[in-house]
Amino acid sequence: MKFCFSCGDGGIPCGTHPGSPEDGRRKEIFKIACAMIGTLRKNTKSMRDAMMNYDVPLYRPPSEANSLIFQVTLGCSHNRCAFCVMYRQKKFRIRPWEELQADIIEAAFSYRRTNRIFLADGDALVIDADYMSRILNFLYKKFPDLERVSAYANPNNLLEKSEEDLRRIREAGLQMLYFGIETGDDELLVKIRKGATSQELITSAKKAIDAGFVLSATIILGLAGKRKSLTHAVETARVCSAINPHYLSALTLMLEEDSPYFSRCLGKDWEMMDKLEVLHELRSMIEQFQLDNCIFRSNHASNYLPIKAILNRDKERLLREIDDALKNPERLRPEYSRAL
Ligand code: SF4
Repeated sequence: MKFCFSCGDGGIPCGTHPGSPEDGRRKEIFKIACAMIGTLRKNTKSMRDAMMNYDVPLYRPPSEANSLIFQVTLGCSHNRCAFCVMYRQKKFRIRPWEELQADIIEAAFSYRRTNRIFLADGDALVIDADYMSRILNFLYKKFPDLERVSAYANPNNLLEKSEEDLRRIREAGLQMLYFGIETGDDELLVKIRKGATSQELITSAKKAIDAGFVLSATIILGLAGKRKSLTHAVETARVCSAINPHYLSALTLMLEEDSPYFSRCLGKDWEMMDKLEVLHELRSMIEQFQLDNCIFRSNHASNYLPIKAILNRDKERLLREIDDALKNPERLRPEYSRAL
Protein backbone atom coordinates (compact mmCIF):
# COMPACT_ATOMS: atom_id res chain seq x y z
CA MET A 1 0.00 0.00 0.00
CA LYS A 2 1.43 3.34 -0.96
CA PHE A 3 -0.22 5.74 1.43
CA CYS A 4 -1.58 6.08 4.91
CA PHE A 5 -5.01 4.65 5.42
CA SER A 6 -4.90 5.76 8.96
CA CYS A 7 -5.59 8.62 11.21
CA GLY A 8 -6.91 11.06 8.65
CA ASP A 9 -6.71 11.82 4.99
CA GLY A 10 -3.93 9.45 4.21
CA GLY A 11 -0.37 10.47 3.70
CA ILE A 12 1.95 10.39 0.79
CA PRO A 13 5.06 8.40 1.45
CA CYS A 14 8.44 9.95 1.19
CA GLY A 15 9.66 6.57 2.32
CA THR A 16 9.03 4.90 -1.00
CA HIS A 17 11.93 6.87 -2.39
CA PRO A 18 15.58 6.00 -2.44
CA GLY A 19 17.10 6.18 1.00
CA SER A 20 14.23 4.60 2.88
CA PRO A 21 16.05 3.08 5.82
CA GLU A 22 15.59 -0.35 7.30
CA ASP A 23 16.72 0.72 10.71
CA GLY A 24 14.96 4.07 11.03
CA ARG A 25 18.22 6.01 11.36
CA ARG A 26 18.49 9.40 9.81
CA LYS A 27 20.05 9.27 6.43
CA GLU A 28 21.76 12.02 4.62
CA ILE A 29 20.59 10.56 1.33
CA PHE A 30 17.06 11.57 2.26
CA LYS A 31 18.04 15.19 1.72
CA ILE A 32 18.68 14.31 -1.91
CA ALA A 33 15.68 11.99 -2.24
CA CYS A 34 13.33 14.59 -0.84
CA ALA A 35 14.49 17.13 -3.35
CA MET A 36 13.47 14.66 -6.06
CA ILE A 37 9.95 14.06 -4.86
CA GLY A 38 8.46 17.44 -5.58
CA THR A 39 6.41 16.08 -8.45
CA LEU A 40 5.03 13.19 -6.44
CA ARG A 41 4.01 15.29 -3.50
CA LYS A 42 2.87 18.19 -5.69
CA ASN A 43 4.54 20.24 -3.02
CA THR A 44 6.26 23.40 -4.12
CA LYS A 45 8.18 23.42 -0.86
CA SER A 46 10.01 20.15 -1.43
CA MET A 47 13.31 21.99 -1.23
CA ARG A 48 12.37 22.99 2.27
CA ASP A 49 11.73 19.34 3.09
CA ALA A 50 15.07 18.57 1.56
CA MET A 51 16.69 20.80 4.14
CA MET A 52 14.99 19.10 7.08
CA ASN A 53 16.73 16.18 8.65
CA TYR A 54 13.88 13.67 8.56
CA ASP A 55 13.79 10.10 9.76
CA VAL A 56 12.17 8.31 6.83
CA PRO A 57 9.69 7.05 5.84
CA LEU A 58 7.78 10.22 6.48
CA TYR A 59 4.01 10.59 5.98
CA ARG A 60 1.58 13.44 6.18
CA PRO A 61 -2.02 14.00 5.02
CA PRO A 62 -2.38 15.45 1.51
CA SER A 63 -3.92 18.60 2.96
CA GLU A 64 -0.65 19.22 4.84
CA ALA A 65 1.35 19.39 1.62
CA ASN A 66 2.46 22.94 2.35
CA SER A 67 3.05 22.51 6.05
CA LEU A 68 6.42 22.35 7.73
CA ILE A 69 6.73 18.90 9.34
CA PHE A 70 8.34 18.16 12.68
CA GLN A 71 8.72 14.57 13.79
CA VAL A 72 7.88 14.78 17.47
CA THR A 73 7.55 10.99 17.59
CA LEU A 74 9.04 8.31 15.37
CA GLY A 75 6.81 5.46 14.19
CA CYS A 76 3.42 4.58 15.63
CA SER A 77 2.71 3.53 19.22
CA HIS A 78 0.10 1.03 17.95
CA ASN A 79 1.71 -0.20 14.72
CA ARG A 80 -0.58 -3.22 14.35
CA CYS A 81 -3.34 -2.26 11.89
CA ALA A 82 -3.65 -4.97 9.26
CA PHE A 83 -3.92 -2.57 6.33
CA CYS A 84 -1.07 -0.22 7.32
CA VAL A 85 2.58 -0.72 6.48
CA MET A 86 3.69 2.83 7.10
CA TYR A 87 5.83 2.41 10.18
CA ARG A 88 6.47 -1.35 10.22
CA GLN A 89 10.21 -0.89 10.17
CA LYS A 90 10.35 1.89 12.75
CA LYS A 91 10.75 1.37 16.45
CA PHE A 92 8.37 3.74 18.19
CA ARG A 93 9.82 6.48 20.35
CA ILE A 94 8.98 9.96 21.55
CA ARG A 95 11.79 12.30 20.62
CA PRO A 96 13.50 14.00 23.56
CA TRP A 97 13.33 17.75 24.06
CA GLU A 98 17.00 18.38 23.23
CA GLU A 99 16.60 16.81 19.77
CA LEU A 100 13.34 18.56 19.05
CA GLN A 101 14.46 21.92 20.31
CA ALA A 102 17.53 21.79 18.07
CA ASP A 103 15.37 20.90 15.03
CA ILE A 104 12.91 23.71 15.73
CA ILE A 105 15.62 26.32 16.23
CA GLU A 106 17.35 25.26 13.03
CA ALA A 107 14.12 25.31 11.00
CA ALA A 108 13.02 28.64 12.45
CA PHE A 109 16.25 30.16 11.23
CA SER A 110 15.36 29.38 7.60
CA TYR A 111 11.53 29.19 7.68
CA ARG A 112 10.49 31.77 10.24
CA ARG A 113 7.44 32.85 8.20
CA THR A 114 5.89 29.35 8.32
CA ASN A 115 2.16 29.44 9.08
CA ARG A 116 1.27 25.73 9.15
CA ILE A 117 2.99 22.90 10.96
CA PHE A 118 2.21 19.19 10.98
CA LEU A 119 3.47 17.03 13.84
CA ALA A 120 4.54 13.56 12.70
CA ASP A 121 4.82 10.52 12.87
CA GLY A 122 1.83 8.18 13.14
CA ASP A 123 0.15 9.32 16.35
CA ALA A 124 1.82 12.41 17.75
CA LEU A 125 -1.06 12.86 20.19
CA VAL A 126 0.38 9.99 22.20
CA ILE A 127 2.60 12.66 23.82
CA ASP A 128 1.39 13.76 27.24
CA ALA A 129 -0.18 17.17 27.81
CA ASP A 130 2.82 18.74 29.58
CA TYR A 131 5.33 17.80 26.92
CA MET A 132 2.95 18.62 24.06
CA SER A 133 2.23 22.05 25.56
CA ARG A 134 5.94 22.69 25.86
CA ILE A 135 6.48 21.79 22.20
CA LEU A 136 3.54 23.91 21.03
CA ASN A 137 4.55 26.94 23.09
CA PHE A 138 8.04 26.79 21.64
CA LEU A 139 6.72 26.46 18.09
CA TYR A 140 4.47 29.51 18.44
CA LYS A 141 7.37 31.45 19.92
CA LYS A 142 9.77 30.56 17.12
CA PHE A 143 7.28 30.94 14.26
CA PRO A 144 5.43 34.22 14.85
CA ASP A 145 3.12 33.74 11.81
CA LEU A 146 2.04 30.25 12.87
CA GLU A 147 -1.72 29.79 12.37
CA ARG A 148 -2.32 26.06 12.49
CA VAL A 149 -0.71 22.99 14.01
CA SER A 150 -2.14 19.53 13.34
CA ALA A 151 -1.31 15.87 13.97
CA TYR A 152 -2.53 12.31 13.56
CA ALA A 153 -4.33 10.83 16.55
CA ASN A 154 -5.65 7.35 17.27
CA PRO A 155 -8.56 6.42 19.60
CA ASN A 156 -6.28 5.33 22.43
CA ASN A 157 -4.36 8.62 22.42
CA LEU A 158 -7.67 10.36 23.06
CA LEU A 159 -9.13 7.86 25.53
CA GLU A 160 -6.01 7.88 27.67
CA LYS A 161 -6.12 11.65 28.13
CA SER A 162 -8.43 13.52 30.46
CA GLU A 163 -10.79 16.13 29.04
CA GLU A 164 -8.74 18.76 30.83
CA ASP A 165 -5.49 17.54 29.24
CA LEU A 166 -7.06 17.63 25.78
CA ARG A 167 -8.30 21.17 26.40
CA ARG A 168 -4.82 22.22 27.54
CA ILE A 169 -3.30 20.83 24.35
CA ARG A 170 -5.96 22.52 22.27
CA GLU A 171 -5.41 25.83 24.03
CA ALA A 172 -1.65 25.52 23.56
CA GLY A 173 -2.35 25.57 19.82
CA LEU A 174 -2.87 22.07 18.39
CA GLN A 175 -5.98 22.71 16.32
CA MET A 176 -6.62 19.82 13.99
CA LEU A 177 -6.54 16.05 14.41
CA TYR A 178 -6.55 13.45 11.65
CA PHE A 179 -8.35 10.38 12.92
CA GLY A 180 -8.85 6.99 11.24
CA ILE A 181 -12.28 5.47 11.71
CA GLU A 182 -11.67 2.92 8.92
CA THR A 183 -14.89 0.99 9.66
CA GLY A 184 -17.73 0.99 12.16
CA ASP A 185 -18.17 -2.79 12.02
CA ASP A 186 -17.02 -4.27 15.34
CA GLU A 187 -16.19 -7.65 13.86
CA LEU A 188 -14.04 -6.02 11.20
CA LEU A 189 -12.40 -3.71 13.74
CA VAL A 190 -11.14 -6.79 15.58
CA LYS A 191 -9.88 -8.37 12.36
CA ILE A 192 -7.98 -5.29 11.23
CA ARG A 193 -6.40 -4.95 14.73
CA LYS A 194 -7.58 -1.38 15.05
CA GLY A 195 -7.31 -1.57 18.82
CA ALA A 196 -10.71 0.05 19.42
CA THR A 197 -14.39 -0.89 19.31
CA SER A 198 -16.94 1.15 17.42
CA GLN A 199 -18.09 2.65 20.72
CA GLU A 200 -14.52 3.61 21.57
CA LEU A 201 -14.16 5.24 18.16
CA ILE A 202 -17.28 7.28 18.82
CA THR A 203 -16.32 8.19 22.40
CA SER A 204 -12.76 9.18 21.54
CA ALA A 205 -13.68 11.21 18.47
CA LYS A 206 -16.43 13.05 20.30
CA LYS A 207 -14.03 13.75 23.14
CA ALA A 208 -11.71 15.46 20.64
CA ILE A 209 -14.51 17.53 19.17
CA ASP A 210 -15.78 18.51 22.62
CA ALA A 211 -12.27 19.65 23.56
CA GLY A 212 -12.38 22.03 20.58
CA PHE A 213 -10.34 20.18 17.96
CA VAL A 214 -11.24 20.21 14.29
CA LEU A 215 -11.62 16.54 13.41
CA SER A 216 -10.76 15.14 10.00
CA ALA A 217 -11.78 11.47 9.88
CA THR A 218 -11.11 8.74 7.34
CA ILE A 219 -12.98 5.61 6.29
CA ILE A 220 -11.74 2.84 4.00
CA LEU A 221 -13.87 1.54 1.15
CA GLY A 222 -13.38 -2.10 0.23
CA LEU A 223 -11.90 -2.98 3.62
CA ALA A 224 -14.51 -5.62 4.48
CA GLY A 225 -14.13 -7.46 1.17
CA LYS A 226 -17.03 -8.75 -0.92
CA ARG A 227 -18.93 -10.71 1.69
CA LYS A 228 -19.22 -8.13 4.43
CA SER A 229 -19.46 -5.00 2.32
CA LEU A 230 -23.02 -4.09 3.26
CA THR A 231 -22.38 -4.50 7.00
CA HIS A 232 -19.27 -2.34 6.65
CA ALA A 233 -21.29 0.34 4.86
CA VAL A 234 -24.16 0.39 7.34
CA GLU A 235 -21.99 0.25 10.47
CA THR A 236 -19.50 2.81 9.19
CA ALA A 237 -22.33 5.19 8.39
CA ARG A 238 -23.68 4.66 11.91
CA VAL A 239 -20.34 5.50 13.55
CA CYS A 240 -19.66 8.49 11.28
CA SER A 241 -23.14 9.85 11.95
CA ALA A 242 -22.65 9.51 15.70
CA ILE A 243 -19.32 11.35 15.53
CA ASN A 244 -20.29 13.96 12.91
CA PRO A 245 -16.69 14.99 12.14
CA HIS A 246 -15.91 18.34 10.53
CA TYR A 247 -14.26 16.55 7.59
CA LEU A 248 -14.76 13.00 6.39
CA SER A 249 -12.67 11.37 3.67
CA ALA A 250 -13.21 8.05 1.95
CA LEU A 251 -10.16 6.17 0.71
CA THR A 252 -10.23 2.92 -1.22
CA LEU A 253 -8.20 -0.02 -0.04
CA MET A 254 -5.07 -0.76 -2.03
CA LEU A 255 -2.83 -3.65 -1.11
CA GLU A 256 0.64 -4.57 -2.16
CA GLU A 257 0.73 -7.77 -4.19
CA ASP A 258 1.98 -9.81 -1.30
CA SER A 259 0.32 -8.82 1.99
CA PRO A 260 0.66 -11.87 4.27
CA TYR A 261 -0.14 -9.97 7.47
CA PHE A 262 -3.35 -8.54 5.98
CA SER A 263 -4.37 -11.99 4.65
CA ARG A 264 -3.72 -13.59 8.02
CA CYS A 265 -5.76 -10.96 9.86
CA LEU A 266 -8.71 -10.86 7.46
CA GLY A 267 -8.96 -14.60 6.86
CA LYS A 268 -9.17 -16.90 3.86
CA ASP A 269 -12.67 -15.92 2.79
CA TRP A 270 -11.80 -12.22 2.36
CA GLU A 271 -12.05 -11.20 -1.29
CA MET A 272 -10.94 -7.94 -2.91
CA MET A 273 -13.84 -5.93 -4.34
CA ASP A 274 -13.94 -4.60 -7.87
CA LYS A 275 -14.57 -0.95 -8.71
CA LEU A 276 -18.36 -1.30 -9.18
CA GLU A 277 -18.72 -3.14 -5.89
CA VAL A 278 -16.75 -0.40 -4.16
CA LEU A 279 -19.04 2.18 -5.70
CA HIS A 280 -22.13 0.32 -4.50
CA GLU A 281 -20.58 0.26 -1.02
CA LEU A 282 -19.98 4.00 -1.15
CA ARG A 283 -23.57 4.52 -2.28
CA SER A 284 -24.93 2.49 0.63
CA MET A 285 -22.82 4.46 3.06
CA ILE A 286 -23.90 7.82 1.71
CA GLU A 287 -27.53 6.74 1.79
CA GLN A 288 -27.18 5.92 5.48
CA PHE A 289 -25.18 8.97 6.60
CA GLN A 290 -26.91 11.30 8.99
CA LEU A 291 -24.39 14.12 9.03
CA ASP A 292 -24.69 17.80 9.74
CA ASN A 293 -22.55 20.21 7.77
CA CYS A 294 -19.76 17.68 7.26
CA ILE A 295 -17.32 18.23 4.39
CA PHE A 296 -17.13 14.86 2.65
CA ARG A 297 -14.46 14.00 0.10
CA SER A 298 -13.46 11.00 -1.92
CA ASN A 299 -10.94 12.87 -4.03
CA HIS A 300 -7.90 10.90 -2.94
CA ALA A 301 -6.06 9.17 -5.79
CA SER A 302 -6.97 5.77 -4.39
CA ASN A 303 -10.66 6.33 -5.20
CA TYR A 304 -12.40 5.40 -8.43
CA LEU A 305 -14.82 8.33 -8.30
CA PRO A 306 -13.70 11.67 -6.91
CA ILE A 307 -16.51 13.50 -5.16
CA LYS A 308 -16.81 16.45 -2.83
CA ALA A 309 -19.88 17.56 -0.96
CA ILE A 310 -21.36 18.88 2.22
CA LEU A 311 -23.45 16.22 3.92
CA ASN A 312 -26.30 15.75 4.42
CA ARG A 313 -27.11 18.81 2.36
CA ASP A 314 -25.79 17.39 -0.93
CA LYS A 315 -26.81 13.77 -0.39
CA GLU A 316 -29.25 13.54 -3.31
CA ARG A 317 -26.74 15.05 -5.72
CA LEU A 318 -24.05 12.61 -4.60
CA LEU A 319 -26.36 9.62 -5.02
CA ARG A 320 -27.21 10.81 -8.54
CA GLU A 321 -23.49 11.18 -9.36
CA ILE A 322 -22.78 7.66 -8.14
CA ASP A 323 -25.74 6.21 -10.07
CA ASP A 324 -24.47 7.97 -13.16
CA ALA A 325 -20.98 6.54 -12.63
CA LEU A 326 -22.41 3.05 -12.13
CA LYS A 327 -24.10 3.34 -15.52
CA ASN A 328 -20.93 4.71 -17.13
CA PRO A 329 -18.05 2.81 -15.51
CA GLU A 330 -15.69 3.89 -18.29
CA ARG A 331 -15.64 7.30 -16.57
CA LEU A 332 -14.15 5.88 -13.38
CA ARG A 333 -10.49 6.37 -12.58
CA PRO A 334 -8.58 3.55 -14.29
CA GLU A 335 -6.82 1.03 -12.09
CA TYR A 336 -3.36 1.94 -13.36
CA SER A 337 -3.67 5.56 -12.25
CA ARG A 338 -4.84 4.85 -8.71
CA ALA A 339 -1.44 4.41 -7.16
CA LEU A 340 0.46 7.60 -6.64
S1 SF4 B 1 -2.69 3.61 14.22
FE1 SF4 B 1 -0.58 3.22 13.49
S2 SF4 B 1 -0.70 1.20 12.51
FE2 SF4 B 1 -2.80 1.94 12.69
S3 SF4 B 1 -3.19 3.01 10.76
FE3 SF4 B 1 -2.47 4.59 12.21
S4 SF4 B 1 -0.26 4.68 11.83
FE4 SF4 B 1 -0.96 2.76 10.91
